[in-house]
Amino acid sequence: MNISADHWLEGAMRRPIPGGSPMPVRRFLAIHFTSGATAESSIEFWRTPAAKGASAHIVIDRDGTVYQCRPFNVTCGHAGVSRWQGFSNLNSCSIGIELANAGDDERLTKRWSKFPPTEARHKNGGTLKRWEVYPVEQLAACEEVAKALVKRYNLDGVVGHDDIAPSRKVDPGPAFPMQALRVACGFKVG
Ligand SMILES: [Zn+2]
Repeated sequence: MNISADHWLEGAMRRPIPGGSPMPVRRFLAIHFTSGATAESSIEFWRTPAAKGASAHIVIDRDGTVYQCRPFNVTCGHAGVSRWQGFSNLNSCSIGIELANAGDDERLTKRWSKFPPTEARHKNGGTLKRWEVYPVEQLAACEEVAKALVKRYNLDGVVGHDDIAPSRKVDPGPAFPMQALRVACGFKVG
């Protein structure tokens, strides 16, 4: 997947959301789930005042369709209060990818997933919960986009929202193959 000189992914469906600040340097790729219905429904929500500025650069639907909302040299509001490797406020130096996924919302999972949920305890603690499974098409698209971004911007790492804000966030959660994505992007996992 190519990334244009003005920081748009070629082949992605463009759904521009105005706003953000200049982001001249990108260090990390942050992975999220939307806790929502379709990718487009989340993007529509981000356009409303109720979203309070929430947004991400990329949203990937369950069928693997990739949407882009802002160029990669402009910030989005996906990380919130966050910390990683000496950096705080990851919004200022990271690209956000949201995956359309219900997380541990069993009602939304039943409505939007073709598969039974997977039962797991989150690595950050909590009780045994049922998490929406990520379809292979969605994971394949995520890997393709992530590899292109890591290469183009020489990123330092791929992180989950549950890594950079572990006391507040559980996404992308236990159903997401984070280690496999890190390996695919060329990072060592210990
Ligand atoms: Zn998140």
